[in-house]
Amino acid sequence: MTMHGGAEAGEEIPGILHLDMDAFFASIEVRDDPGLEGLPVVVGGAGARGVVAAASYPARTRGIRSAMPMASARRLAPDLVIVPPRIDHYRQVSAQVMQLLGDVVAETEQISVDEAFLDVRGARRLFGPPEQIAQLLRRRIREELGLPSSVGGSVSRAVAKIASAQAKPDGMLIVPAERTAEFLAPLSVAVISGVGPKAQEALARIGVRTIGQLREIPRSTLARALGPRAPEIAALADGSDRTGLGHRARDRSLGTERTWDEDLTDPDEVRRRITTMADDVARQLRRSGFVARTVVLKLRAPDGTTLTRSSTMDQPTASGERLRSQVIPLWERERPAMPRLRLAGVRVSHLEPGEGAFMQSELTARSAGWQDLETAMDRALERFGSASLGRGSTLSSATDQARRPGTEPGEQDDGPARRLGR
Ligand SMILES: [Mg+2]
Repeated sequence: MTMHGGAEAGEEIPGILHLDMDAFFASIEVRDDPGLEGLPVVVGGAGARGVVAAASYPARTRGIRSAMPMASARRLAPDLVIVPPRIDHYRQVSAQVMQLLGDVVAETEQISVDEAFLDVRGARRLFGPPEQIAQLLRRRIREELGLPSSVGGSVSRAVAKIASAQAKPDGMLIVPAERTAEFLAPLSVAVISGVGPKAQEALARIGVRTIGQLREIPRSTLARALGPRAPEIAALADGSDRTGLGHRARDRSLGTERTWDEDLTDPDEVRRRITTMADDVARQLRRSGFVARTVVLKLRAPDGTTLTRSSTMDQPTASGERLRSQVIPLWERERPAMPRLRLAGVRVSHLEPGEGAFMQSELTARSAGWQDLETAMDRALERFGSASLGRGSTLSSATDQARRPGTEPGEQDDGPARRLGR
C-alpha cells in the first residue's frame, strides 16, 4: 500500500525503510514444520510458569501476546502448540535475512534480530522507487527464506518504524513526506517508540491521546509532560523529523543514581539497590536500542567524598545480568574504603546501536537468549507494572545464584519463567 502524494521533480523521497519480520521465531517454526500452518503456535517455555516469547498470527487473533504467561495463553487457546525456542537456529536465519538485505541495499542498519533500517535513496537508480525496493525485499525474503515480513517507509526512521507496524502482517506502507502528519494524526501516542505507559499517562492528563492532539499542545506544556525527549517527539508528530540511518548519538551515556535520606551501611541492601539500578539501566538501553561497552559505578560517602569506578567489557551489552556482573565487583572492591553510602549510581557509556545486542555481543546462545528474555520481561513490566514482577537477584541473591547462565539447558528453559513469576 502506498499513500499517494505529489510526484514532482525534486520531491523528497521516503527512502528510509524499516523492515520487520512478522512473528519471527514463530514464523520460522511454522516454515520448518508446515503441519503447524494456521495453528495457534507459540515459541516459549512449556513449563507451568513458562512465558510466550513469540506468537504466530493465528495465536494473536486469539489474544495471545509476547511475554504473556504460558498458562494464560493456554486458557485462551486450549489447542495451543508450544514450541521450545531454538535461539541458534533463529540467529542463523536472522543472518540470512540480513545478508539478503545487504545484497540489495548498501546502507543498512540492523537494530535487532529481526529488524533493520535501510536507506534506499541511493539504490533508486538501480532498483526504482522505495515502494518497488520494499516489494523486492519482501518478495525475496518470502521466496528465498519462506518467511513473511513487513516494511514501512518514510523520510524519517521513527515514522518508518511506525509505518511498518501499521502494515503488519505481511504488508507494506510507504508514507510520502507531505502526508506524514496526516498519517500520524489518528494514531495513539503509544505507537511512538519510547512513549511508554508512564508518558502516556502524563499525556492523557493533559488531554492528549493521539499524535494529532499532541501536535496541538504548546511545546512548553509538552516539555513538562515528556521531559527531555519532548522536542524529538514534537518533531515526529508534526512530520519534520528527518532522522535517518546511523544518526543516533554514539557518545551518549545513560544511567541512574539515587541519594538516600539515611546512610546505607547494610551490604545486602546496597547490593540489592545496585542490582536494581543495573537492571534499570539495562532496561533504558534496550528501550533506546543501544548496547553499552562501559559501565560506571558512582559512590558518595556521607561526608561528600565521591568516587567513580568503571569497567569496560569486550562485548557491548544491554543485559542487566551482565551489567550487574561488572558493577557489583567494582562496589565490593571499594566497600572497605566506603562502608557508609549516601548515594550510588550506575551509568553506562560507549553506547552503540543495538545491532550487536542479539547477534554478536553475546557469545553463546544461552546468553543471547537471556537478553532476549530480558526484553520480554521489559514488555511484561510495561504491561503489568513493576510491582508484579521481580528478579530473583532483587528478592534474594541466594536464589539468583542458582539461576545464572551456566545452568543446565533444561533449567534455562524454565529459568526465565521463574524470573517472570511472582
Ligand atoms: Mg518482528
